[in-house]
Amino acid sequence: MKIAFYDPPVLQTKPLRSAIPFHILLKPVGAGCNLKCDYCYYPQSEQQKAVPMIKAMLEPFIKNYVAAQPAYSKEINFVWQGGEPLLAGLDFYKRAVSLQKHYTPQGVRIINTLQTNATLLTPAWCRFLKQHDFIIGVSLDGPEEVHNRYRHNRKGNIGSYDEVIKGIRLLQQFEIEFNILTVIHDDVADLGREIYLHFVQLGGRYIQFQPLMLEGDALGQGFTLSAENWGKFLNSVYQQWQQHHHLGKVFVMNIEQVYSQYFTQVSTSCVHSERCGTNMMMETKGEIYACDHQADQRHYLGLFNGEKGLSDFVNSSVALPFGQNKSRRKECQQCDVKMVCQGGCPAHVNQSGRNQLCEGYYAFFSNVLKPVRQYARNAQGVQSWRREVLGIR
Ligand code: SF4
Ligand code: SF4
Repeated sequence: MKIAFYDPPVLQTKPLRSAIPFHILLKPVGAGCNLKCDYCYYPQSEQQKAVPMIKAMLEPFIKNYVAAQPAYSKEINFVWQGGEPLLAGLDFYKRAVSLQKHYTPQGVRIINTLQTNATLLTPAWCRFLKQHDFIIGVSLDGPEEVHNRYRHNRKGNIGSYDEVIKGIRLLQQFEIEFNILTVIHDDVADLGREIYLHFVQLGGRYIQFQPLMLEGDALGQGFTLSAENWGKFLNSVYQQWQQHHHLGKVFVMNIEQVYSQYFTQVSTSCVHSERCGTNMMMETKGEIYACDHQADQRHYLGLFNGEKGLSDFVNSSVALPFGQNKSRRKECQQCDVKMVCQGGCPAHVNQSGRNQLCEGYYAFFSNVLKPVRQYARNAQGVQSWRREVLGIR
């Protein structure tokens, strides 16, 4: 008689899914960059060379990243950043895209977002980026004179403006949508009008202003940003945007985010979400941190080596106090712009426990919210707003 053998219990080979969607920002060349911008949040003097991501890690990472997203996710975002992520070379991204295709189940869309200084773009790059629908962010500081003051070659003697514009023209030629990202600090706080109009003139339709982060070279070089200047800058952009009737034509993310969060109660940015902690970052050797701006020992989550599922890292990250408590600070509870601010980024909270940009956020958000507050924060409110303000039926 033949004895029937039972199969041994199936080992857990597939990583567990996370209960919530998450991102892990990837740095395919670490801090490596062909430029040396004065306020870089990586101390560039210490990182002269690109440190490539461990080659063998790409496949297990992509497999795990896709498998660990919640079952209901219909979109999975890969975010490539640096340093300068184009230094990883076209073949690196070709392989990444083919692995994404291989591991992504049917019906799920992959979105690749890449933040670049645009100086290394070529027609070959653009063909690839267009073919695979990459969303491109270009770092640009403003008109030539402003940009070249802060963003230059590694010797510090040649500004990168002309090279960036060449890159932007290539993106436009290949009809690749791009978002202009600009870091704001005290020295440019009076230039909101010039900077904004320059971007519009260049054909920029998606623009985002980001407050200086006090880390890396920004600290060493003495860069600062006061709350007053942050508010002043954003309000002058808002004024220009209104005066030129750019609603629906030029998307300034800082303004759009207020409208969308007011009506939907959900923020498109981690900075203004009620909680954060699901935007992690992985360094080139697999070191995972809770956030790109919290890359220290307290926010280190461990090493990705393919053994531990990424959902475990998500669970550890969201349990950390920085993300859980971001909107719970005392001064925020009675604030009448809290619904769109939510306390800002914990990386801007100073030693006395206050967000150092608070007054700036308040000045800007109260201004943008003024004409919106008369509408209810629900579907009917947004419909009335679209009808009356945008003329959309
Ligand atoms: S610490 Fe700041 S940048 Fe990081 S996830 Fe939180 S809000 Fe976003
Ligand atoms: S404006 Fe200031 S007080 Fe108000 S929610 Fe933002 S950080 Fe908190």
